[in-house]
Amino acid sequence: MRLYVDNNATTPVADQVLGAMLPYLREGYGNPASIHQFGQQARAAVEQARAQVAALLNCKPEEIVFTSGGTESDNLAILGVVRAGSGRKRHVITSAIEHHAVLHTCRALERQGVTVSYIPVDATGLVDPDQVRRALRPETSLITIMHANNETGAIEPITEIAEIAREAGVRMHTDAVQSTGKILVHPQEMGVDLLSLSAHKFSGPKGAGALYVREALALEPMIYGGHNEGEPRPGTENVAGIVGLGAAASLALEEMDSGRVRIRELRDSLEESILSRFEDVGVNGPALRGPESDALRMPNTSNLYFDRVEGESLVIALDLGGVACSTGSACSSGTVEPSHVLMALGHARERAKSSIRFSLGRTHRREDNQFLLEQLTSVVRRLRALSPQTSVAETRS
Ligand code: PLP
Repeated sequence: MRLYVDNNATTPVADQVLGAMLPYLREGYGNPASIHQFGQQARAAVEQARAQVAALLNCKPEEIVFTSGGTESDNLAILGVVRAGSGRKRHVITSAIEHHAVLHTCRALERQGVTVSYIPVDATGLVDPDQVRRALRPETSLITIMHANNETGAIEPITEIAEIAREAGVRMHTDAVQSTGKILVHPQEMGVDLLSLSAHKFSGPKGAGALYVREALALEPMIYGGHNEGEPRPGTENVAGIVGLGAAASLALEEMDSGRVRIRELRDSLEESILSRFEDVGVNGPALRGPESDALRMPNTSNLYFDRVEGESLVIALDLGGVACSTGSACSSGTVEPSHVLMALGHARERAKSSIRFSLGRTHRREDNQFLLEQLTSVVRRLRALSPQTSVAETRS
């Protein structure tokens, strides 16, 4: 048996999504900019997908700009606002726990003379809106703070931060790549001007995403070309990918209410079993479970540390046992540096390097928890027995 519990890295494409895409990789190959019927068919498909994404976000279809995914959406939002601003508006506020798609974009801006404030987080990984308020300067042009963290699942107080941005006349962007399609994400109600999402995080294809851009907000494009996608994002559309994103959005909307609760219950049950079975194990990020956790933590995510076990070794040993999980951000796997997110929570290097993330998907079942627990028990026992640190009892069971 092989169990995939790394859904924050990516998700399998749902059958319905693949079924919707295939015709546009075969006979529906027209260019949406062409005036003949092939083109018109492709254009209609793109517009239908735009309406599907808008329905998921409860916004207007005109506010959706299709991109190649979360990374491009983040870049377009940040660079687009800063470059569209006046020469004096050269300050950006972000957080210490952003995905590298945001952090590295900010670093690139710093090299071009823009000042960036990195707001720290508390021990559960949450940003304090007051700290954002205090970081504001007359020259601030943008606040970019993520909605849900990919490693811990922490959900940031975006509505409060967006209110601060609005009062100060500063643009607000949120990276909602991990939350869109899994929990309710309504940019207008959150009060944000820009919001990034990515299809492959919610049963859609890789290489397709979108940026919500509040109506009438001007963005400087990152690349220049034809006018297919309006001013901010030219180029012939990835029609099949966009159709897949639209289908994934509709599926997410359909399954949102029941799916969210079902996954949270499975995550809670898994986490409770692990915490009761092992000594010296704890949750990184918001540790609350049950319905009260809905506002603070993504329902599918459990980031845990196992004292006296090296995270990478645990991931490799679990993989050999048929369980695919991760040490955190997929993009930083392979590096020996501890996660910048866990370090920002104030944890010691050892704890950050002894942590792994389970992120459950929409097809996860109760039996999968059982299998995971069995594998984890044998692997943690084995690795702890090898640990040079003095060990207490490896497991309680
Ligand atoms: N932002 C967050 C929070 C993510 O988790 C990811 C992907 O891991 C991205 C951005 C990048 O998205 P994409 O893989 O679509 O480029």
